[in-house]
Amino acid sequence: MALLFKNATVYAPEPLGTKDVLVVNDRIVAVEDNLNVSLPDLETVDAKGLSLTPGFIDQHIHVIGGGGEGGPVSRTPELMLSELITCGTTSLVGVCGTDSVTRSVEALLGKVRALTAEGVSAWMHTSNYALPPTLLTGSIRQDLFCVPEVLGVKIAMGDHRSSFPTLEELMRIISDIRVGGMIAGKTGFLHIHLGSVPGAFAMLNEIVDRGIPIHHLRPTHCARDKAVFGEAILFAKRGGVMDVTSGGSCFDTPAKAIRAALDEGVDPGNITMSSDGHGSIPRFNSEGLMIGLGTGAVSSNLRELRSLLELGLRLEQALPFVTSNVARHLGLPGKGEVKAGYSADLCLLDADFGLRHVLAKGRMLMRNGQVVVKGTFEE
Ligand SMILES: [Zn+2]
Repeated sequence: MALLFKNATVYAPEPLGTKDVLVVNDRIVAVEDNLNVSLPDLETVDAKGLSLTPGFIDQHIHVIGGGGEGGPVSRTPELMLSELITCGTTSLVGVCGTDSVTRSVEALLGKVRALTAEGVSAWMHTSNYALPPTLLTGSIRQDLFCVPEVLGVKIAMGDHRSSFPTLEELMRIISDIRVGGMIAGKTGFLHIHLGSVPGAFAMLNEIVDRGIPIHHLRPTHCARDKAVFGEAILFAKRGGVMDVTSGGSCFDTPAKAIRAALDEGVDPGNITMSSDGHGSIPRFNSEGLMIGLGTGAVSSNLRELRSLLELGLRLEQALPFVTSNVARHLGLPGKGEVKAGYSADLCLLDADFGLRHVLAKGRMLMRNGQVVVKGTFEE
């Protein structure tokens, strides 16, 4: 299987100008000027006028559904493959959330494997909001070593739905993540859902002060609360990564939160964006009673990417938040860049930033704006 994209405007994410891009099987083989290729079954695609970018990586999706805050009826549905394709997401990390009773990490692993078989690339974090952690094997170290898809462990902090872990509990979990990662040859992450109850970053900073490398700590929802956002900026300035949820923020738009972080002097390389897709978005009143519920869309990453361009960022400045930064910080080799030898996960966008073609692992899943490969139960 070979595809040649002629005369694309390539953002790797850095701008490379007009190039031809050759894909063979699941890999990018060449990104060059005027490629002349002769291969059996080679398909040539005219990409003149199209921007060719890495496929987007979304590191926080409730692929088996989340929610549950309003009883069984509020459990959100599972993700379908075509939802990812319509917004250019070709890699993801699946997570569980509030509901640690009816959502299992085994089901999450099953869905991650299903999505991988259907065409995208998928990983997961074990556990959910609660302590003790909910694991596949009973041990954090074994989850990291025995299950290739497991990148880390999820927890909630500073949230009325969290288990309010103590510093010592967190230290023990992070130590297990660090050692499990060492043994497995992974980095090992604590993926932290942040609520708006103060105190989470004080603990994270204390953990770093005690000698735990900051790259193990991965706070998300960093722009849902003004005070938390201010602390996330300080955390990013000391070398941490701040993940901004494109599904909602305390700014008018999540893109404005990223713009504000950049204006505050945060290194753009330390910012990532994820959707929180298929999570529930409960709204609580001042007494903590739930008064409404929505479902997060995985397409919010693409929407906020467009918003960042409207705010004056160039495409090469905005793309890393959902491509190369995410791949580098998650340690996903061969992902997140348009480069020979890298995974052929590609988006081709028109002048209005509309998706024309999407490739995942070398397969055209969207062609001329139409999703052509659907999930098993979508036919
Ligand atoms: Zn979530």
